[in-house]
Amino acid sequence: MSDSVVRALLDEPNLKVSVAVLGEVARDARRRHSLAPASASLFAQGLVGGALMASLGKGSTRINLQLECDGPLRGFFVDAATDGDIRGFVKNPSLDVELASGVFQWRAALGNSGFISVLRDVGGEFYRSSVELISMRFGDDLNHYFATSDQVPTRVAITVQRNAEEALGHVAGVLIQLLPSGDEAALKKLAGDLEARLHDACEKLPTLTAAALCSELFPQARQLLDTPVKFACTCSREKALATLQALGADEVQDIVDTMGSTAVTCQFCGTKHEVTLPDLWEILAALGRPVRPN
Ligand SMILES: [Zn+2]
Repeated sequence: MSDSVVRALLDEPNLKVSVAVLGEVARDARRRHSLAPASASLFAQGLVGGALMASLGKGSTRINLQLECDGPLRGFFVDAATDGDIRGFVKNPSLDVELASGVFQWRAALGNSGFISVLRDVGGEFYRSSVELISMRFGDDLNHYFATSDQVPTRVAITVQRNAEEALGHVAGVLIQLLPSGDEAALKKLAGDLEARLHDACEKLPTLTAAALCSELFPQARQLLDTPVKFACTCSREKALATLQALGADEVQDIVDTMGSTAVTCQFCGTKHEVTLPDLWEILAALGRPVRPN
């Protein structure tokens, strides 16, 4: 795994920069959730957006980045932590639409209206904000989110590019944010052609890593931190059993009577937690229901 987010400083104009490369994570997500091409590509953008936003946090910050839309994708959910763990899901995993080129390229997937909502968990304190989608291009709408919801001038660019046979070949993003007493004109200038420069840099680099991409885009940057990013979930078999127990004795008895065993599939990571008949008996016993082995 070589995916990571690099945090860096541009001293002269006083800007902070995060650069993310998430090809492995995006392909891992595609495999876990069996995502069709359009679902996989849009979710890859969401993962990059989530990782970049989480990189702005300190300590044990988590962000939940949610896209909701009226198009057939319906939306996605990304849960990203400052320490590099990321997970999430797409509401419609099977979307395989023909995508146009140009600024309307994602309308077939996203439709014509929707929202980006962000929930920030900063050490147990929650901050929520949301904006309406206006351009129906995720990167542009994320910039719109920052412009309307965040007090600090911030620009972001995201790219998902094919590399040979691999549709999720280059999955990367950049975020630039003004520091106190930073030069806002310099930020705007850098942001002007950021997406095009990101695209070209991904094509040019022989090995795409966040550190190499940061050096290519901002040769003068002082790189401070390179945090590995991986698709990781907090689910477990114990939590799956607790979920079943929460259904109550009648429901669990019904599973015993009709199926004999079951599985709880985690929405966030696709892991299937198998639940055997003895597990179900144990749950029934814990719920105070006499066990009736057949
Ligand atoms: Zn999970």
